[in-house]
Amino acid sequence: MKALVKERPGEGLELEEVPTPEIGPDDVLIRVRKTGICGTDIHIWAWDDWAARTVPTPLVTGHEFAGEIVEVGRDVTDLKVGQRVSGEGHLIGKTSRQSRSGRFHLDPETRGIGVNEPGAFADYLRLPAFNAVPLPDAIDDEIGAILDPLGNAVHTALSFDLIGEDVLITGAGPIGIMAAAVARHVGARHVVITDVNPLRLDLAAQVADVTPVNVAQEDLRDVMHRLHMVQGFDVGLEMSGNQRALDQMVESLVMGGRIALLGIPPGKSPVDWSRIVFKAITIKGVYGREIFETWYKMIAMLENGLDVRRVITHRFPVSQYREAFETMRSGQSGKVVLDWT
Ligand code: ZN
Repeated sequence: MKALVKERPGEGLELEEVPTPEIGPDDVLIRVRKTGICGTDIHIWAWDDWAARTVPTPLVTGHEFAGEIVEVGRDVTDLKVGQRVSGEGHLIGKTSRQSRSGRFHLDPETRGIGVNEPGAFADYLRLPAFNAVPLPDAIDDEIGAILDPLGNAVHTALSFDLIGEDVLITGAGPIGIMAAAVARHVGARHVVITDVNPLRLDLAAQVADVTPVNVAQEDLRDVMHRLHMVQGFDVGLEMSGNQRALDQMVESLVMGGRIALLGIPPGKSPVDWSRIVFKAITIKGVYGREIFETWYKMIAMLENGLDVRRVITHRFPVSQYREAFETMRSGQSGKVVLDWT
């Protein structure tokens, strides 16, 4: 089969022939149809310090996918050949306290497909049946391929009750934009999304009924005034990993405000903890998706009117993967999807 492989340490990926994976008794084999390119894949392409520390070579990369089951393991009873699926890319252990109490996404033994284990940028993917998530007809392969990042957005957005709340989202990448759409869908009052990239802010406004703010040009306080917000935002969703965005978020929040952090700062960064203490702010770190509560919620919302399709701005056949990665790396795109059919 063909696959996008990190053949050896260094920049880039190669499209090459590799053996089709063999499945075990509890696995399924999936014919991959569409895959999404993630920020993680860009780190792996660029081979930065994190990637060099984390990713073994050679490795088939990629973890955002949708496809069809073409083979089921001997002990798999609840899935069948021909079923359309996406799936959770975090492969969990079964021995930790977190796993044994059903908080699978907090298992410290987690290994990621396309990061530590063979991934989804391939004609075929082997996946534990436990990780497969069947797709209803209402969710096509293209949307199925971005459920992983949508899951990050949903997990972050649903960290706190957003009904009637004013929500500030810092960072208008695809996940920030999808989180904005989710916040609107579940009934937030004002949703303001900030960035310094005009293209991404335009895209945010196309995908969801939100107020985009370019903080390089506009003062967030003016926007809050215009929206008649008395004290500030009730909830902040930090998606950028940018120190100044976090500072601005803390300043813009109400007393007792709540922050969910998904953005990853590049290194250690100074935090004004006394502001956070005196404003009685709650901060929650968000990792991955709740397995499988987030999946349940997002599929239900997609079946009930949540529309994030326009966050996909580029589609390429896998033969043009270099252009696809170049598009992602430019920062001038939303989600980029590769077609494996
Ligand atoms: Zn991803």
